[in-house]
Amino acid sequence: MKEGKIGVTTEDIFPIIKQFLYSDQEIFLRELISNAVDATQKMKALQRSGEFEGELGDLTIKVKIDKDKGTLTVSDHGIGMTAEEVDKYINQIAFTSANEFLQKYKDKIDNIIGRFGLGFYSAFMVADKVELITKSWKNGEPAVKWECNGQPEFKLEETEKQDRGTDIILHISNDAKEYLEDNRIEQLLTKYSRFLPVPIKFISSTGKEVTITEEPLWKKNPTELKHEDYIEFYKKLYPEAYEDPLFYIHLNVDYPFSLTGILYFPKIRSNLEIQKNKIQLYANQVFVTDSVENIVPEFLTLLHGVLDSPDIPLNVSRSYLQTDANVRKISNHITKKVADKLHEIFKENRKEFEEKWDDLKLFIQYGMMTEEKFYDKMKDIYLVKNIDNKYFTLDEYKELIKDNQTDKYNNLIYLYATNIQEQHSFIQAAKDKGYDVLLFDGSLDIPFINVLEQKLEQSRFARVDSDIIDNLISKEDKNKVSLDAQTRDELSTVFESAIPSDLGIFTAQFEAMGQEQLPVTITQSEYMRRMKDIGMLGGPNMRLYDNLPNNYNLVINTDHNLINKVIEDINITLEEKLNPLRTKKKELQKQIDTLREQNKDKKEEEIPQTDREKLDNLNKQLEEATNQISTILRDYAKENKLVKQISDLALLSRNMLKGEKLTEFVKRSVKFIE
Ligand code: ADP
Repeated sequence: MKEGKIGVTTEDIFPIIKQFLYSDQEIFLRELISNAVDATQKMKALQRSGEFEGELGDLTIKVKIDKDKGTLTVSDHGIGMTAEEVDKYINQIAFTSANEFLQKYKDKIDNIIGRFGLGFYSAFMVADKVELITKSWKNGEPAVKWECNGQPEFKLEETEKQDRGTDIILHISNDAKEYLEDNRIEQLLTKYSRFLPVPIKFISSTGKEVTITEEPLWKKNPTELKHEDYIEFYKKLYPEAYEDPLFYIHLNVDYPFSLTGILYFPKIRSNLEIQKNKIQLYANQVFVTDSVENIVPEFLTLLHGVLDSPDIPLNVSRSYLQTDANVRKISNHITKKVADKLHEIFKENRKEFEEKWDDLKLFIQYGMMTEEKFYDKMKDIYLVKNIDNKYFTLDEYKELIKDNQTDKYNNLIYLYATNIQEQHSFIQAAKDKGYDVLLFDGSLDIPFINVLEQKLEQSRFARVDSDIIDNLISKEDKNKVSLDAQTRDELSTVFESAIPSDLGIFTAQFEAMGQEQLPVTITQSEYMRRMKDIGMLGGPNMRLYDNLPNNYNLVINTDHNLINKVIEDINITLEEKLNPLRTKKKELQKQIDTLREQNKDKKEEEIPQTDREKLDNLNKQLEEATNQISTILRDYAKENKLVKQISDLALLSRNMLKGEKLTEFVKRSVKFIE
């Protein structure tokens, strides 16, 4: 028997172990199991090399709860230790390394993932007393028992043990009683030790035996695996997933870094379903963590599956990971593999690729927006879908529209709709011209337009309702509007005042659109709408855009005979009131012009005082006359059924006519047909 003091100076190492690692207490089991696995693997190696000639026997590692004694025992059938080895590995090396580890990471323990290296001594996080009973594989070595009750003092003595191997008996402390619960231990074993290369059995407090070990599918050769194997494995990893993954990628690299794993593309249907932290990270089949940010590119954290690499440094801070050369290589490799796989599906089965596209799109857009390299790899197979549900690559689509949708400035215009129902009349107008319209209804489609506009040359994207179609794609042969300025001004006042002011700011615009189009159409400029859309996406910096008023254009179709009817009606019914004012306005304008002409070569301060006063006076009068005209026109619009009906129809076709205004419209319409 040997008694002694463990060879370190810090007497309070155990309280430190307990306190600092309290949040991650549960890893003690992973550490003990990992040691047991190592000891077992060494045994196998000894047999392979011929050093050991006997029977290996059953190598299962057993984890057992004894509630009466208050113990949790981990037993292996590995190489065991001699008394000397216990002294060396447990008393000296293990303790020293645990101590060093703690000294080093005391202050930043929260930054550390994995926390490998604490090893055997992590048992003291949950136990008051630890017994280690071990018998070496070496012939003639007696079994020994080491015991330590949480002080740096230990006891080492010979003991009886039949089989080769090691039992670690933890006398669970009062504040860690959860580790005597069957469910807790089974859950921990499943989490950390499910895919280990040595079989593990859990023996519950009632004596029930549960096999924990499962095959780590990612370690197998892909050629030996069938599609169903991958799907089954996915379900095992994510029992709560109710849909099969879209596809999977089996990773297998050993140079210049070691990386294995299987990544799955989950089916994501809405933003709400996006779940990060689904990839599980392993090091040599031991579970380490499920938060892989900084290890894989941001957009790939949406994937599911497992990654296994001993080359990812685990006991360093998160931010350091990004700059680690291996981690960068691994990250690049994964990105490349993902792109390759997508190319493969595209090439080998375009139909399948198109079927999956709507589910994949969000993820691919996210990747292309955030990783330049991924954009370059994906640009040739990125698909757009038109409103007839046809898919095109960007090149194919360009080919389709380039003859018809290039405007007179030589820009290629991509037309899109975000809602087929609501934008129906605009889509129809585009189709009448023989144009094609894309459907952008995905949650990242609009932000992705900015990416495409930057990348595609001489190209612009325009939502079908952002202007009249002849302006969206303007060509040489556009019809001219033949209204004089006075008529335009008056019509603008009439129609602008017919729109309820709470809907936003409406600005009249005149277009000769042909008798077939509506007399008045409402559009919203692409630029204004995108600003608004950005505002909707939220974020503190975006509030500014969110508060922008809604700006619309009120497009008046001067070719339409209802518009001509309104012009005529104004001229006839308002002739007496308007004509004197119109004449006055013209005269005032003439006088202003003459005065300006006389002084046009002078600087502001050289203009004679009298002239300046005259100008001021004339302008005031002009403004007055204009205001008087406006008041007359507004009163007219308020009472005029035709004007109201035309503007209400414009609002109605944009789904903007609501409430009281809608009721009024319906009543008025009934009167029309009575
Ligand atoms: P590490 O595993 O990182 O080396 P540990 O503190 O966990 O550190 O263990 C120290 C040493 O004790 C191990 O390297 C090994 O030699 C020995 N050891 C621990 N557990 C066992 C075991 N179950 N069987 C045989 N040897 C063991």
